[in-house]
Amino acid sequence: MEHFRETRGKKRRVLIADDESINREVLGSILKDRYEVSYAEDGQEAFNMLKEAKPVFSLVLLDLLMPRMDGFEFISRLRADNDLRMVPVIVMTSEADAEVKSINLGAADFIIKPYDMPEVILARCDRIIELSEGKTIISSAEKDHLTGLYSREFFYEYIRQIEGYNRDTLMDAVVFNIDHFHLINEMYGRKTGDEVLINLAGVLTDIFGRIAGIGCHSDADTFYVYCQHQFSYDSIMDKIQESLPALSEKARIRVRMGVYPNVDKEAEAELWFDYAKTACDMIRGDYTRSVSVYSKEQHDRMLYHEKLINEIDEAIANRDLIVYYQPKYRIQGEKPVLKSAEALIRWKHPERGIISPGDFIPLFESNGLIQKLDNYVWEEAAHQIRKWKEKYGRTIPVSVNVSRIDIYDPALESKLLKLIDTYDITTEDLLLEITESAYADNADTLSRVVDSLRGRGFKIEMDDFGSGYSSLNMLTTITIDVIKIDMKFIRNMRKDDKSLRMVKLIIDIAGFLNVPVVAEGVEDEVQLTILKKMGCDLIQGFYFSRPVPPEEFVKFIEQEL
Ligand code: C2E
Ligand code: MG
Ligand code: MG
Repeated sequence: MEHFRETRGKKRRVLIADDESINREVLGSILKDRYEVSYAEDGQEAFNMLKEAKPVFSLVLLDLLMPRMDGFEFISRLRADNDLRMVPVIVMTSEADAEVKSINLGAADFIIKPYDMPEVILARCDRIIELSEGKTIISSAEKDHLTGLYSREFFYEYIRQIEGYNRDTLMDAVVFNIDHFHLINEMYGRKTGDEVLINLAGVLTDIFGRIAGIGCHSDADTFYVYCQHQFSYDSIMDKIQESLPALSEKARIRVRMGVYPNVDKEAEAELWFDYAKTACDMIRGDYTRSVSVYSKEQHDRMLYHEKLINEIDEAIANRDLIVYYQPKYRIQGEKPVLKSAEALIRWKHPERGIISPGDFIPLFESNGLIQKLDNYVWEEAAHQIRKWKEKYGRTIPVSVNVSRIDIYDPALESKLLKLIDTYDITTEDLLLEITESAYADNADTLSRVVDSLRGRGFKIEMDDFGSGYSSLNMLTTITIDVIKIDMKFIRNMRKDDKSLRMVKLIIDIAGFLNVPVVAEGVEDEVQLTILKKMGCDLIQGFYFSRPVPPEEFVKFIEQEL
């Protein structure tokens, strides 16, 4: 993505400051084919023009002896001005000793009057512009060592330069992020991680180089691209998707893209990329989307999410996060029998009222905070089991949800064992629900963790079974203790035959594996009857009860007694 300037093909602006019109004309006629030339009659006028220029001037050709403000004063004013400091100046002079003085003042070069060889003058102007544009560039650490793309610092510097002469072109800020990059590093080693970054940088350079983009390796697994405005990024994303399998032999790579289209040129470039990054973050964990375009609503949602993130500790401390319990009933007897419960988190927000887990679980899964939340829920549940045990003299087993992120926590098992110990319960009392999609992330790790937990006596319930792509595959590699049928099959059972047969199939598979099966989301008697006939063992759903706080849950226990 190096050839931004060349592909833009815009003429640079050059300012000639000379009080003699004949000099201005001669020089102007030499330069006007290659540059966009403007004229000033003295130093003051030249200075004012530079200050107001949009796009900026790339070079000043300066006569030294002029009325109002001479060339010497002009140069020192220029060098003292923060915006104009870097504009190169070529001094035009007929006096030999002024050369030294002007060069000492910081002029980049000089041309002797009268002008004779136009090619030489042009070549000098070209060289000085090139040098000066290169100089600001080289002054910041230019390239990222790993990927060969620009460093972030230089990238912004380059954008400011481009914007100097490119303000009228519509441009987009684009951010790329690799999903779960830290896991790629952890699982396959840094070398594989680096390889993925290098290869992705190559793909981006190839694709965006064609639409006059420049790119940077911002940090870890994030890339920025600044390019001409695109009406849609779908085809670009398609090309990137096609290239992903080749990025690494081992790891499966998923890339997300956030776009802030048609950037607001009055704002800072850093802000454009903050917006693009926001867009990119919004689809983290959403496996159905890979391109996200920045919008106001998205921005508001991000602020809302940020607020929730900041509030989680306080919410735990104030006990605004409450664990609800939903009963699971065994239905194969004469009448339903309370078997266990599922712990489900609720956030009673002091300002917003009850926030459903759908609003914050995916968010916390995306930034790792879910671990904190889950640890809290597990402890609450373990404590609750203990309290009921004491009060009613019997155990109500409680299932807790184990997020896919928890699977990678090396302390997972020891944390759970500690809870068992602290609350003096057994591994059979605290059941673990693991969502089926965790298998798609990394089958090997999941299988290892599940084996180990089962070895300690924990029971594993496979949540949302049938929702993923590898449900059957999973059953051949992982031993589990309970299957929970994904709710959507139960919901659709009556209106579509496929769902109904799917439910039947899952129940048969569970029978074949000799594990109980739970139907979730059962809302009415008709569903219950169908499921009972098919041989489903356990039911969880609004038909029996919504998830309720523990004080309300006791009524189900007391009914049983
Ligand atoms: P899940 O583990 O599959 O939980 C079942 C969800 O189905 C719960 O939604 C429950 O309220 C809902 N549900 C139960 N019966 C019915 C019914 O008859 N009809 C309908 N329409 N819905 C029913 P909830 O509580 O909103 O939780 C949603 C998801 O959030 C859970 O799905 C689980 O994946 C996650 N979640 C909830 N609490 C926790 C937690 O403490 N930790 C983690 N990691 N995830 C949690
Ligand atoms: Mg669950
Ligand atoms: Mg479920």
